[in-house]
Amino acid sequence: MIKDKVVIITGASSGIGEATARLLAKQGAKVVLGARREDRLKQIADEISKDGGQAVYQVLDVTRPSDNEAIVSLAKDTFGRVDVIFLNAGIMPTSPVSALKTEEWNQAVDINIKGVLNGVAAVMPHFMAQKSGHVIATSSVAGIKAYPGSAVYGGTKFFVRDFMEVLRMESAMEGTNIRTATIYPAAISTELLGGITDPGAAESMKALYDQHAITPDRIASVVSFAIDAPEDTTINEFTVGPTSQPW
Ligand code: NDP
Repeated sequence: MIKDKVVIITGASSGIGEATARLLAKQGAKVVLGARREDRLKQIADEISKDGGQAVYQVLDVTRPSDNEAIVSLAKDTFGRVDVIFLNAGIMPTSPVSALKTEEWNQAVDINIKGVLNGVAAVMPHFMAQKSGHVIATSSVAGIKAYPGSAVYGGTKFFVRDFMEVLRMESAMEGTNIRTATIYPAAISTELLGGITDPGAAESMKALYDQHAITPDRIASVVSFAIDAPEDTTINEFTVGPTSQPW
């Protein structure tokens, strides 16, 4: 059941996070939006409210543990509990290793790996106390197989895959009733490519996306499907991409 579930979404200011917020709110969830761009969050929350949904937002930098704790508090203070966290914030500054874009490597690790850890650390005490909860994360097809240009980005997404699987196993062993779902999108048309500074990587990625990319509402419907499953059922992994893309 999605209706009345309280869902925190990181990276909710555009792309997959925004589409998921809009869909879940339409389906009756109470959504709590986090990202760095406040103007975008405000606009999305306002539009959801105007359409009869329930949404609040908070400026969130996932690399800061205190921001993650604050958004969990906002959800609890506003709606009384947290049922789902969608750990979706991410950047994709792909480049060949030889370009030595070390600052971007560190940013990707901080946001795509530590951001996920910070979100889990903030929400787990509540999930363990209420003996229920759902952790959903956006990995990538680059978290399943290696691609040239994707050494660091793919590495961060491989991390998400491993972490989420162990979380699932341990939650089952510990009887916390915490469900997990990990999503592995292929080419989805969002703002993600704007973060690629390497000209060669940007060009080849743009060509791929121009040819194949599908819209982010496709991923939103998968998140919705995972949440909607009965509480005793974990639908754990989804690869989702354009039918035309070989991946
Ligand atoms: P977008 O660039 O449209 O969305 C990324 C979101 O992450 C934005 O809302 C951005 O908001 C947020 N974000 C980035 N850094 C931070 C931060 N430090 N703290 C909080 N929020 C942050 O791209 P997508 O929607 O495509 O990306 C969502 C996820 O999907 C990412 O994890 C990405 O790796 C993954 N993915 C996407 C694919 C695609 O083809 N689009 C394919 C595979 C995986 P703001 O800048 O306002 O903080």
